[in-house]
Amino acid sequence: MKTIVFGGTFNPIHLGHLYLIHTLAEQTDYQRLILLPAREPVHKSYREQVTQEQRLDLIYCGIEDYHRYYAQDRKMDIVVDTCELTRDAASYTYMSVTDIYQRYDIDGTLGVVVGDDLVKDLHTWYRFEKLISLVNFLVITRENEIDGRDELPEGIDCQWIVVDPLKVSSSHIRELLYASAGDIQELHALLSDGVLDYILDHELYKEG
Ligand code: ATP
Repeated sequence: MKTIVFGGTFNPIHLGHLYLIHTLAEQTDYQRLILLPAREPVHKSYREQVTQEQRLDLIYCGIEDYHRYYAQDRKMDIVVDTCELTRDAASYTYMSVTDIYQRYDIDGTLGVVVGDDLVKDLHTWYRFEKLISLVNFLVITRENEIDGRDELPEGIDCQWIVVDPLKVSSSHIRELLYASAGDIQELHALLSDGVLDYILDHELYKEG
């Protein structure tokens, strides 16, 4: 299957992520999307309150919500791969990519989603030369913003995905929940229903 990898911390998964999945369904012909949750850095103060399992549960809720909200989208298989959560040592995209090539039946070249803010530093990534020979980058660029096309290191295969990004980030959502300041209307505008219900039911992102 033609496959694309979309990594992130997804802490929590929000409407911006679902909208990006929708955009990938619209603008590409990949048949499978692998969501690749990253391990959270240990310095974050709320880390004890949200376990990896809960973060994964939230991702699954988000995928269900995506299928309901964007029921008209071209069908893509969406799976979650936990290789970065279970890896003991430091995790690099190159390792996940080679791992995924071994464990999945991939047609053609694996796609990897990256934000355009990362483009200029791609050459510093672990085993960059090998990595670029293995993948196509799908660079997410925001409408009306100067993108990184001029900064793209040579020899990189990439496709530009233009999104009209929603003003939402996981960190803002965590702040709202942590401060207990998030009025429910505001949270509804940032999170899908299943994800918000799970967060409220389990009282996540609260002060411990
Ligand atoms: P945080 O606020 O904790 O840094 P985040 O909201 O940026 O988190 P991540 O899980 O780090 O979420 O995001 C992974 C990727 O998802 C990003 O690199 C970006 O490509 C994409 N993304 C995140 N938020 C949006 C958004 N609002 N619109 C479009 N794409 C987004």
